[in-house]
Amino acid sequence: MSSELSRSNRSREPFYTVLWVRRLGPCLVVKEPVVYVDGEWNPKSRASISVFDHGLLYGDGVFEGIRAYNGVIFQFKEHLERLYSSAKSIRLQIPLTPEDMTRAVVETIKRNGLKDAYIRLVVTRGVGDLGVDPRKCRRASVIIITQYADPAFGALAKQRGISVIISSVRRDAVDATTHEIKSLNYLNSVLAKLEAVDAGADDALMLDRNGFVSEATTTNLFIVKKGEIFTPPSTAGILPGVTRKRIIRLARDLDYKMVEKGLTPYDVTNADEAFLTGTLSEVVPLVKVRGIEIADGKVGSITRKIMEAFVKVRADPKDGLPIYQETERIVARR
Ligand code: PMP
Repeated sequence: MSSELSRSNRSREPFYTVLWVRRLGPCLVVKEPVVYVDGEWNPKSRASISVFDHGLLYGDGVFEGIRAYNGVIFQFKEHLERLYSSAKSIRLQIPLTPEDMTRAVVETIKRNGLKDAYIRLVVTRGVGDLGVDPRKCRRASVIIITQYADPAFGALAKQRGISVIISSVRRDAVDATTHEIKSLNYLNSVLAKLEAVDAGADDALMLDRNGFVSEATTTNLFIVKKGEIFTPPSTAGILPGVTRKRIIRLARDLDYKMVEKGLTPYDVTNADEAFLTGTLSEVVPLVKVRGIEIADGKVGSITRKIMEAFVKVRADPKDGLPIYQETERIVARR
C-alpha cells in the first residue's frame, strides 16, 4: 500500500458521540459521514481543501460520479478508466495509482457503512497561486465523497417521464475544452439547467455547434423511432457516458437495432419514445421537448423494457467491484 494510504490509517477515529440523556441513559448520536481528502478521512463538516486549489479557482480538475448497488460498485473499472483518461488529457498527475484509488474508494464506502451509494470522486489540480499556470500546483488533491443516492429528477420521474427545453447553451467544442473530458467545469450544464428552471422544465438538451442534439445537462440521449433506437455519436459533443455504453450493449442484447447517428431537435420531437441515461439518473423517460409531447406524452414500451433490463444489469455483480469481500484479491487481479 502506498504511503498515501497508510498515512490515512491514522485518522481511523470513531465519528460518533455518546450523550447521557436523563431517564434514557447513554445514547449514541448518529455518525457524521466521513469524506476522504488526500489520505485522510474526516467528518463531512471538517473535510476541506485550500481556497488556493485550482479546482476551485479555475475548475481545473476532473471527476467521476459512480454508483454502488447492494455492495457492488457498478462499472467501477469503466469509471476509473474515464477518470484517468480525463486527467491525462489535461496533464493532471493523479497522485494515487488506480489500485490505491480503488482501495481508497472501497475503504470510504466501508467507513460510511454503505451498500447502496453515490460515489463522487474528484481530483483537483491542487494548491497553486492566483495565476492560471498549473505548474505552480505541486500536487493534485483527491476527494472521495460517498452518500445515499437521491433519485434524480424526483421520485416520480421514472413513472411519468420528464420534460426538457432545448438550451441556447452549446456543448463544449472539440477545439475548445472538448466534451470528452469530465472536468470540474460544468458551466454550460449549469447555464442550461438555469434556462430549464426558468422555463419550468425538468432539464435541458444542449446542441453541438452545428445544431445537432448533443445531450442533456448530465445525461445522454436516446430516441426510439419505428422500433429502432438512436443515440448521438461522440462527434455531437457528448460526454462518453458509462451508462450510455452499457445501454447500447443492453439494447443490442435485447435484439433492438441500435444506431449512433446525428439527431436534430426535429428528430427528438417526432420520436416515438425518448429516454436519458446517466449514472445518477439511470434510465429516465423523456416525454416532452419544448412543450411538445413526444408521441402521446407517456412512457414508451421500449423505454420500459430498457429500464427493466437495466435494473437487472445493475444488480449483476459481474459488472462491478464487490465492496465487502475479497477486495484485495480483486484489486490485484485488475
Ligand atoms: N453527460 C454529461 C454532461 C454528464 O455529466 C453525465 C454524467 N456523468 C453523462 C452525460 C452521463 O454519463 P455517465 O453515464 O457516465 O454517468
